[in-house]
Order: sequence, then C-alpha cells, then structure tokens
Amino acid sequence: MIQFHNVFKRYESGHEALQNVSFNLKEGEMAFLTGHSGAGKSTLLKLIMRMEVATRGQVNIDGINLNQLARRHVPFLRRKIGVVFQDHQLLYDRSVYENVALPLVIEGMEPQDIGRRVRAALDKVGLLSKEKLTPIMLSGGEQQRIGIARAVVNKPPILLADEPTGNLDPQLSSEIMQLFRQFNAVGVTVLIASHDLDLISRMGLRMMELSQGGLTRSGVPA
Ligand code: ADP
Ligand code: ADP
Repeated sequence: MIQFHNVFKRYESGHEALQNVSFNLKEGEMAFLTGHSGAGKSTLLKLIMRMEVATRGQVNIDGINLNQLARRHVPFLRRKIGVVFQDHQLLYDRSVYENVALPLVIEGMEPQDIGRRVRAALDKVGLLSKEKLTPIMLSGGEQQRIGIARAVVNKPPILLADEPTGNLDPQLSSEIMQLFRQFNAVGVTVLIASHDLDLISRMGLRMMELSQGGLTRSGVPA
C-alpha cells in the first residue's frame, strides 16, 4: 500500500532529509515511524501525501507511482489518505460537527450523506454527543479525537499521523493509539510518526527507525 524504493529527498537548501529509504507497508498493516527530531519523519509523511516530491527513487501509494502523478491528479491521491496532526488543526469558530464535515463539504458531497458520514465518524471516536459544541469546550484528548474523526470521515484506506499524542498525558496517549488500532482492525493501513517509545514499543507492532535520513531499523521490537 505504501512502498518506498531507494528514496532520497534533498531540500533546496541542499539538506538531504532522506537517504536511500526503502520499505513496504502492506494493505491493512499498522506501523510506527520513530527517530529524533530532524531525522526525516515529517519529510517521509509529506512524500506520501505528495506535499514534497522525492529527488530520487520511487514512492508508490496504493498502486500510484507518485513520480509520474500529474499535479491535477494529486487531489485523487489525497482522498485516499487521512491525516492527523499533533496540533489537530481544528477550526475553533466552528462546531465539532462542522470540523469533521469539512473534507466532505470540500468534496461536494450531498448534505444528507454528509450527516450520515459525520455521525458515523463521531460515533467511532466516542464524540457523538458533542457534535454541537465547539472544540474549545473539549479537552485535549477529545480535540485529538475530532482530528481523527475528520481524518477518517471519507473512509480513506490510509491513515497517517504526525506525533498525534505529542501534547497528551500517557493515559490519553494510550487511548488515542487504541483508536488508531480500531481503524486498523477494519482494514485501514496506518503509519504513525511518534517518539513516544515507551508507548509504541508496548504495542507489539512494526517500528521503523530513521536516523539522519536513513532507515536504520525496521521490525517488531522483542
Ligand atoms: P522530523 O519530522 O523527524 O523532525 P523533518 O522531516 O521535519 O524531521 O526534517 C528532516 C530534516 O530536513 C531536518 O534537518 C530539517 O531541518 C530539514 N527540513 C525539513 N523541511 C525542510 C525544508 N522545507 N527545507 C529545508 N530543510 C528542511
Ligand atoms: P456507511 O453506513 O456509510 O457504510 P459506516 O461508518 O457504518 O458507514 O461504515 C461501514 C464500515 O466501514 C464500518 O465497519 C467501518 O468501521 C468501516 N471502515 C472502513 N474503513 C474505514 C475508515 N477509514 N473510517 C471509518 N470507517 C471505516
């Protein structure tokens, strides 16, 4: 589902953020991306979303060769990928419902279908009763759940997250990871960048470690 083949990414500054990175994440797999700040985690996620383009090597997402993807087809790729950010990037002057509905409104979905999808997504993250509130009225953990509901509302086959538990305490972090696990259990391919090693090493899933742009380890920790 997510394939990197000898991928290099050099920014215009000359900095080589990724060097010869190769891996394959199969459909329905869930894995973590670890590594110190500056190791290249965000860059790798940006290549998957085609927010950046590889300098060398091949990136394939759900059978799409991103090297050959025309700019006008990028929205088609993006609809396959739900993204969760550390700071959740919510709109604080809109309701929980409106925040989650946003990707569907942009897609031009019919209003009655939007209602059904938004409530299904809010139900999955346990926030159905809070749809009329604004995000400010909710806790940090609940705000992250809104971000997750928004990421999955159009049922993408791929879910990416960049430090989704960065601002949460251990208990809430663990709950958020379990939520990702639930989406993975229904077949969604999940890749999460995180440096919360305590938490993710307990999950028994594949960990890929980046160090100065190179993939130095990949596998399930013992
Ligand atoms: P991580 O997410 O692991 O912290 P990043 O992928 O954000 O790492 O960054 C990897 C390296 O690339 C860092 O040294 C960073 O400064 C550099 N970098 C990231 N984005 C850019 C950019 N747009 N232009 C130049 N250098 C960048
Ligand atoms: P609908 O009535 O539109 O089919 P549901 O939300 O009830 O809506 O979804 C049907 C099934 O799809 C559920 O079992 C759900 O867990 C699953 N599913 C698969 N991929 C996703 C995803 N990315 N986000 C949410 N649900 C998903």
